[in-house]
Amino acid sequence: MKHSTSEELYEKALDVIVGGVNSPSRSYKAVSGGAPVFMAKADGAYFWDVDGNRYIDYLAAYGPIITGHAHSHITAAITTAAQNGTLYGTPTELEVRFASMLREAIPSMEKIRFVNSGTEGVMTTIRVARAYTKRDKIIKFAGCYHGHSDLVLVAAGSGPSTLGIPDSAGVPSSIASEVITVPFNDIKSFRAALERWGQEIAAVLVEPIVGNFGIVQPEANFLQQVNELTHSAGALVIYDEVISAFRFKYGGAQNLLGVEPDMTVLGKIIGGGLPIGAYGGRKEIMEQVAPLGPAYQAGTMAGNPASISAGIACLEVLQEKDTYAYLDQLGQKLEQGINELAQKHDIHICLNRLCGALTVYFGVDQVTNYEEAERSDGEAFATFFKGMLMHGINLAPSKYEAWFLTIKHTEQDVRETLEAVDKVFQGMSRR
Ligand code: PMP
Repeated sequence: MKHSTSEELYEKALDVIVGGVNSPSRSYKAVSGGAPVFMAKADGAYFWDVDGNRYIDYLAAYGPIITGHAHSHITAAITTAAQNGTLYGTPTELEVRFASMLREAIPSMEKIRFVNSGTEGVMTTIRVARAYTKRDKIIKFAGCYHGHSDLVLVAAGSGPSTLGIPDSAGVPSSIASEVITVPFNDIKSFRAALERWGQEIAAVLVEPIVGNFGIVQPEANFLQQVNELTHSAGALVIYDEVISAFRFKYGGAQNLLGVEPDMTVLGKIIGGGLPIGAYGGRKEIMEQVAPLGPAYQAGTMAGNPASISAGIACLEVLQEKDTYAYLDQLGQKLEQGINELAQKHDIHICLNRLCGALTVYFGVDQVTNYEEAERSDGEAFATFFKGMLMHGINLAPSKYEAWFLTIKHTEQDVRETLEAVDKVFQGMSRR
C-alpha cells in the first residue's frame, strides 16, 4: 500500500499548519511518527485516502460518526439547513425540538444550552457549578480528558489524590491548583480527597463510562458512592458524556447505569458529524446562566441550524429499532475474534468492550484505571496500528483510544478486519 500523496501533503502541511495537523491526536507521534494518512472521502464504514487506498474505519472521527459516514438522512438534513440559511443569530424552532429530544432521552438535563464543542460545554458547566455553589475547586479523575480549557488541562501529581499540576504550557499553576485529581474506580482516594478539601469543592467531573484511556467501565457502585459523597460535601456531580451519550444506548451512560448527575455535558454524536456541544442539568442550577442568572456564556455559532439539523437527524437514525443490539452483536464478534487470534499467536492483550466500542491493550492483564492503561505496551500498539493500516484498517493512532463501530459496519467488514488482525498478530509474534 502506497502513501506517497499523503507524504507529499504532510510536507506541505508541516509548512503551513502547526505540526501538520489541526488536532494533535491526528499526528502519528504516539505510534512512532511518519506522515498521517490524508483521507479524501468517507462513506458508510469506509475511508478512501488521497492515494486511492480504501480502509475500514474504526476511528469514527473519535466517536461522533456512529451512523457511518455521509449517512443519507443526515446529509439530507444538512442540505436542507444549508438551503434555508446556516446561521441566523436568532432562536429557531429546531433548537427547541432538539433540546426536547435530548431532555426526553436524558431526563436529568432539565434545562439545556447548546454550544459548539465538548470543550466549551465542560468549561461552561464548571463555571455554572462554581456560580451555584460559590466554591472554586473541582475534582477530576486521572486520565479522563475533558477538552482543552485551562482548568481541565491538568495532570495528577504523584500520590493517590493530588492537587493538579499544569499539563500544558500556558496554564497558570494557580488555575491547576484548583483541580484535585484522583484515580478512577478508587473510592478510598476519592473519599480522602473530599475529607481534605470537601468544603472547597464546587464539582466533581467524571466520564461515567471512560472513553479517554480506552473504554473503562465504573466498578459496581462507584458512581453511586461518588454521588453520595459529593452531595454530602455540598458539591455537584458533573457527567462528561461527550463520548458516552448515545454511544451505548439511546440516552446517556447515566441511563444505562441508573445514576443521575446534577449536570451533564454532551458533544460528538449529538452533532451528527457537525460541530456541537451541549450542557444541562437541574433547573435551579441551570438558571444561574445568563440571561436568567449571573454566570455568563454566549456563542455566535451556538445552536446553528446546520448542526442542530444534523443532530436531530442523527438521533432519528439512532431511534430505529435494534441500533444498539446490532452494534453490540458486531462488537461481540470483534472481541471474540481478536481474543482468539491473540491466543493463536500468543500475543498478550486485554480487551475492554462495551456495545460497539472497544480498546485493545497490549501486555497487560486488566485496565480499570489510567495507571493500568499507561502501563500497556505502546510499542506493541504502534506495530499493531501500522500493520492494520497497511492492511486497510484505520484505527486511532494511540494506545489510549477506542475502536468505534458504526451501524454501517457489516459482518463482512468484521471478517475482513479479523483477517488483517490475524496477519498483523502473526508478524508481531515473530518479533
Ligand atoms: N470530553 C470528553 C469526554 C472528550 O472525549 C472530549 C474530546 N475527545 C471532550 C470533552 C472535548 O470535546 P471537543 O473535542 O469537542 O472540544
